[in-house]
Amino acid sequence: MDSFGRHINYMRISVTDRCNLRCRYCMPEDGVQDLGHGKILSLEDIARLTRIGAQIGIRKVRLTGGEPLVRKNITGLIQCIADIPEIDDIALTTNGILFPAMAEDLKAAGLKRVNISMDTLQEERFLYITRRGGLNLVWEAVFKALELDMHPVKINVVVIRGFNDDEIGDFVRLAYIYPLHIRFIEYMPVGDLQFWDPDRMVSSAEILNKLQADYELTPEKIVAGNGPARYYHIAGGAGSIGFISPMSHQFCSECNRIRLTADGKLRGCLYAKQEVDLKAALEQGASDEELQELFFAAIKAKPAHHDMGSGWGEQNFRKMYQIGG
Ligand code: SAM
Ligand code: SF4
Repeated sequence: MDSFGRHINYMRISVTDRCNLRCRYCMPEDGVQDLGHGKILSLEDIARLTRIGAQIGIRKVRLTGGEPLVRKNITGLIQCIADIPEIDDIALTTNGILFPAMAEDLKAAGLKRVNISMDTLQEERFLYITRRGGLNLVWEAVFKALELDMHPVKINVVVIRGFNDDEIGDFVRLAYIYPLHIRFIEYMPVGDLQFWDPDRMVSSAEILNKLQADYELTPEKIVAGNGPARYYHIAGGAGSIGFISPMSHQFCSECNRIRLTADGKLRGCLYAKQEVDLKAALEQGASDEELQELFFAAIKAKPAHHDMGSGWGEQNFRKMYQIGG
């Protein structure tokens, strides 16, 4: 339990700050200085910290980044986490590019579920937003995940006015035809702020109002996982649509997560500055008990809520790919 009675049982682990794409809302094109070998946690350290987390109540783990699949031997890490008896769910958030080639191995290692980011269904737009391209591989990733029964397969769509807000209907049709859970995410000022403009943010309420004119949507409490998304069933459809609304709504009172950054800092909140330095402690030879105390300190420092919708944090914010999105 944290100081506000929330039961912390979910840890998001950023395994790298590196990425094979350069999404405009997340990373700058140039000058991305990755942390380098010595500064990031080894896979052994991540596995040890996950074991310690499991001892104090962590039951679910999500690997993210940066792009988690660019981390060497990520499959080995998944295997180690799957061997921790208390952990009952291992999921991954990926841009999908490397997933088709790795999917079988990831599943065999113990990966249960996958969230795939796909902001547009149009090749040219995909190339524009990611600055790298590869939409065909992302499609392949989506169908591979379905083929391997990694349900629920969730698709993350950051909605950006003037870029992809005219594709919302296409995404809804995708969730109608396939058992996919499409999550519309409000654009946040947490990435490369060169691209940020408050007018580009489309609120979940705006999307929902428009969709309700065309579709019969019923609130649904399905979809395994621990996210803050609100889901809706589309009458007659195979999948669902969901909304992640960090800008317009706070879901902090239900937040059950802590985050481990690639450089070994434990954070209670994506949007707050408090961090506990586990890497430094590991380097000083901390025992499991001492590390456990640091987990408790991070959980205790978890704020009651973030204040991002009011514009807080637009400056001096560690980027999402650095913390782990
Ligand atoms: N590379 C992986 C991927 O893209 O799925 C995992 C890391 S990425 C930081 C995790 C999620 O954060 C992605 O769905 C991405 O679209 C989302 N994201 C990144 N920057 C964002 C922003 N400024 N606003 C909203 N969502 C953002
Ligand atoms: Fe990479 Fe994911 Fe950020 Fe895109 S959103 S640049 S894929 S970390």
